[in-house]
Amino acid sequence: MEYAEVSVNSPVAQRCTFSYAIPLGLGIQVGQAVLVPFGDKELQGIVLELTPHPAVTETREITGIIEPYPLLSASQVALARWISDYYLSPLFEAVALMLPPGFKRKLITYLLASPAHCEKDLSSLTREQVYVLDLLSGMDRVSLKELEKSLGRKRAQSLTSQLVRRGLAVRSYELEAVRVKPKLAAYLNLKLSTDEAQLEIARLLKKRALKQAALLSFLALKSRPVAWAEARRETNCGKRVASALASQGLVTIQPVEVRRQPFSYHDISRQEPLSLTAAQKKALAEIKSGLEAKNGTEAAPRVFLLHGVTGSGKTEVYLQALAHTVKLGRKGIVLVPEIALTPQTIERFAARFPQRVAVLHSKLSMGEQFDEWQRIRKGDFDVVIGPRSAIFAPQPNLGLLVIDEEHEWTYKQTDTSPRYQARHVALKLAELTGAAVILGSATPDVETFHYAQRGDYRRLELPERVVPDEGSPLPEVEIVDLREELKAGNRSIFSRSLSQAVTKATGHKEQVILFLNRRGGATFIQCRNCGYVLTCRRCAVPLTYHFDRDILVCHQCNYRMAVPQTCPQCLSRRIKFLGIGTQKLEQAATESFPQARLLRWDSDATKGKDAHWEILNRFRTHEADILIGTQMIAKGLDLPLVTLVGVVNADISLNLPDFRAGERTFQLLSQVLGRAGRGTSGGKVIIQTYFPEHYAIQAAAKHDYALFYEQEIGYRHELRNPPFTRLARLTYRHTSDILCQRGAERMRQRLSEEIASQGIDNLSLIGPAPAFIHRLRGRFRWHLILRGAEPSVFLSTIPMPPGWVVDIDPVGLA
Ligand code: ADP
Ligand code: ZN
Ligand code: ZN
Repeated sequence: MEYAEVSVNSPVAQRCTFSYAIPLGLGIQVGQAVLVPFGDKELQGIVLELTPHPAVTETREITGIIEPYPLLSASQVALARWISDYYLSPLFEAVALMLPPGFKRKLITYLLASPAHCEKDLSSLTREQVYVLDLLSGMDRVSLKELEKSLGRKRAQSLTSQLVRRGLAVRSYELEAVRVKPKLAAYLNLKLSTDEAQLEIARLLKKRALKQAALLSFLALKSRPVAWAEARRETNCGKRVASALASQGLVTIQPVEVRRQPFSYHDISRQEPLSLTAAQKKALAEIKSGLEAKNGTEAAPRVFLLHGVTGSGKTEVYLQALAHTVKLGRKGIVLVPEIALTPQTIERFAARFPQRVAVLHSKLSMGEQFDEWQRIRKGDFDVVIGPRSAIFAPQPNLGLLVIDEEHEWTYKQTDTSPRYQARHVALKLAELTGAAVILGSATPDVETFHYAQRGDYRRLELPERVVPDEGSPLPEVEIVDLREELKAGNRSIFSRSLSQAVTKATGHKEQVILFLNRRGGATFIQCRNCGYVLTCRRCAVPLTYHFDRDILVCHQCNYRMAVPQTCPQCLSRRIKFLGIGTQKLEQAATESFPQARLLRWDSDATKGKDAHWEILNRFRTHEADILIGTQMIAKGLDLPLVTLVGVVNADISLNLPDFRAGERTFQLLSQVLGRAGRGTSGGKVIIQTYFPEHYAIQAAAKHDYALFYEQEIGYRHELRNPPFTRLARLTYRHTSDILCQRGAERMRQRLSEEIASQGIDNLSLIGPAPAFIHRLRGRFRWHLILRGAEPSVFLSTIPMPPGWVVDIDPVGLA
């Protein structure tokens, strides 16, 4: 093989590779990082393919190798290509997902005097050339940047090129250094012998300095330097206690550089597998035969949907399936939603595979991520656990991919390209590597369930919670019809039922969560009397109310109408009810429950990095009686003192202008219900709504996934929405609203002409319409939706002008 197809780190490379000749004697492998000439620059590239012939007649040579070993495996190379093709992202961006963290660094060009320069005749050189050469021979090397600083950019570049051409100087390249900030931690160092310490402890006890005595005896017991964090945790002493000991000369406090570790194995003791329930056994047996099968077959499929409510023992099945994978000599990756990457989750995995679990998360510094990446690549870990990007970890010899809470929308990358869906990527990776996949969820994505029904995945059910000891039944659910409240003359945000329940619970020193799934920006309007919501006649999605112009807009097709004076359903004049936000809810709660201590948890209140854990911990330690929050609180919490959850208005997510609104509502309510009643005293959930008969609410209240699914899949089919079609969302951004609209209209025109001329009959266009979040960071956004069999294949033939963003399989249209 004399040629290489290289993905080049340049924005102009787009979805293409470029052909380069391999210099004689340079051993190049697929997945290797190289330097290549590109225009007048030297750029980073990754070799995706080796070929006997180049794709073009004139090729240049690869300049050099960056790393001696391949950075991407052959399956990762194929995966990167697939991501670029399917999500229509630049190829190098797809490749970069799998590179070591910090790899995409700037390249520094250095110049060295060539060893031969002394023997050459220098008489023909210009004065400037001699000057540079002298400079170079006086030092090991000089960076091009430094030369540019002293000579000017143009001059420096032409002079170095001249010297290189004459063989007097050579270029070398090095990636800029990774900047790692060391982390310092305070350590306490005992300055006394054990006997001296005992005397001091006795003295302190006599003085009734109990805390100081406690800390000192803890340090004496440990007889090693102890991290302040550990000492504080164990002895419950404040900083002042430590300072007091230090000022008496009994201890020193010193900063020590520590390696940040995602968790310490120190306190984790090994745990043996639990003996499984019948349902778990059956599920595991099927997964095991999938793992053992040479190729996925009908009898032993490779993709499993593990469907079971929270607490039904899914994680235990993952753990044992992973153990079996390891026994077969292979390795695994586990994806969890970012918010679920808690110490408890990590500990559970670490306890089962001591020292063999790598945790990837965004809080690691670049250098640490890099180290972790290297260790994973070397095969140091049996299990890699992390958020969606962990699917790209260089885990060798993959046997099993686990995606916990597979329905979570956070598995889709929406903000930056490639806009990939990690679940979909995992399925593709499994196909490429022969690994098995477990998709786990209490409320599977409707698409996933549909594919399972169709036979693409094997469905495994864990129908009941594992109840090791008594208690923790599913909570009792009450649905309150808000229309009845109004009829009874109750205008408050809280129904009579909810308000009584809150008073009762807080009176018993129990905790309450009030849940309001409100997101910012535009909203729908609702008849305060009968709950009627105006929807688009064409798209059947709720119309969005625009305050500024007092009109209703469909955010899918741009249908517009004036706000009617009276409700079309009940003729009431109170049609313009806009609902409430968390702040207003907090205010109302303060008035209605003056005795209770409130805590609000939403994205406004949790701006800081760890703010939500802080708020959560304050609630857990019972610093407040009522926690008010948005969808964030529905996730991953174990709050034993909570006996009541009030869903203040279930209709908010139900009325998002999105065909997935029903699914979203079902998932959220199910999650909220899963939270309640985890403690010993059982629990109650009260759902307030204007649509008590809505299937998503009914099904969630009955903990009945099948009931929800049957209805939902019917609607999907009827309205030709996924999984019966696929969507692509094209968003255009512009500082002018009118030019943005026009640009979007032109694109629609262009696409519909193309569709007609190619004779495609299974693609349709919806819109353009203003995006639900119409204006963001000073730019207006209009979007178009392309719906049909393979929008991505069609769009790959259309060059996208600047300003456009394409999102394949968008998770939310709102
Ligand atoms: P899920 O992942 O479905 O929420 P978990 O695996 O976390 O469920 O199980 C819920 C609880 O039940 C955990 O505390 C777990 O330790 C326990 N558990 C799971 N399986 C068993 C089992 N076979 N025997 C005893 N306890 C179990
Ligand atoms: Zn009405
Ligand atoms: Zn519409």
